[in-house]
Amino acid sequence: MTIFDKFRGIEHRLEELKALGGRNPFDVVIERPLSSTAGMIEGRETLLFGTNNYLGLSQSPRAIEAACETVRSCGVGTTGSRIANGTQSLHQKLERRIADFFGQTHCMVFSTGYQANLGMISTLAGKDDYLLLDADSHASIYDASRLGHAQVIRFRHNDPEDLNKRLRRLDGTPGAKLVVVEGIYSMTGNVVPMAEMAAVKRENNATLLVDEAHSFGVLGPTGRGVAEAVGVEKDVDFIVGTFSKSLGTVGGYCVSNHPELDLVRLHCRPYMFTASLPPEVIAATMAALEDMQAQPELRVRLMENAARFHGGLNTLGLTTGKTVSPVVAVVLDTIPEAIALWNKLLSLGLYVNLSLPPATPDHHPLLRCSVMATHTPEQIDRAIEIFREAMTNLKTQPPQM
Ligand code: PMP
Repeated sequence: MTIFDKFRGIEHRLEELKALGGRNPFDVVIERPLSSTAGMIEGRETLLFGTNNYLGLSQSPRAIEAACETVRSCGVGTTGSRIANGTQSLHQKLERRIADFFGQTHCMVFSTGYQANLGMISTLAGKDDYLLLDADSHASIYDASRLGHAQVIRFRHNDPEDLNKRLRRLDGTPGAKLVVVEGIYSMTGNVVPMAEMAAVKRENNATLLVDEAHSFGVLGPTGRGVAEAVGVEKDVDFIVGTFSKSLGTVGGYCVSNHPELDLVRLHCRPYMFTASLPPEVIAATMAALEDMQAQPELRVRLMENAARFHGGLNTLGLTTGKTVSPVVAVVLDTIPEAIALWNKLLSLGLYVNLSLPPATPDHHPLLRCSVMATHTPEQIDRAIEIFREAMTNLKTQPPQM
């Protein structure tokens, strides 16, 4: 018995996946980004349809300039935690900007979105409290439940009735009840029925936290997310999100009108015991936010592109989620089928994400695609055409088992 024995199962599984398709699907290298929508992979120019870079701002000239200027004046990192030597005036400026953008009084910025969920949820819901989680919640939300030791109650995905039933059963119990939902679910692209969730929260006097990781910059008249889109921001106690998707940088945030958010800073281990964001990342993030605010047309184009891609894949007979969102998940029946199609797409110059059970909802393998505002209509059509070619090609060849 060695300390590594527990890894043998995954090692064996990885060998099987490689044997099915020839590549290690978890080891794709983007050798060089060429633009927001294309990169060099395996020495070939490849269309990127799996990056979460919804507005294309990872390549924003304004953000690049801001980062370069700031790195020269402030250096490359802070070498410390926010509660020690890791708070520079830039961190406070970013928190003010994000709070103002959301029209909320308070904001905490974290080093990643993962840490924002981990920190906020584990700190808000302690061992005498109840955490009501959507069954399809992101790993950072589940990990937070372990760190905080709250009692976890899962409700059916996107089912406010089920949430209501479970909250009613807790009526009269002393612990606080924290409900956590996501604006757009990362694997499937499903949008939360936010108005209904907010009504259930109100009825049961619970606390509501929304992770807008995939909906920030995407939904709502100004891009604040699903709560803005359906007009229930006043019912949401905490909005969490990330800079690593629509803003193209890295970092996480939580905004709230509860002044107690400032007390969370001194209880929240994933905030206290890690180095703060580097100054150049903050400068790039603020510049990307300005880009996002100055170009509302990016969101319009993003949704047009999402509809074009979604419709194109459905015309090919592929099964996707019903909701049109920038996350388009192609549902497949078997793992060998998913591996073969994913490998063929990459060989033909199209990168999408491969998501395999048990990490997927309902245990179906998914080819998870994400659409960007900066994709041209020609790139969308080319991506659909590559799907068609790959499917035709696989039908005419015997499976490589
Ligand atoms: N929440 C959700 C729903 C996510 O999908 C992700 C990233 N995949 C995160 C949080 C974490 O974000 P970050 O990449 O900034 O750590």
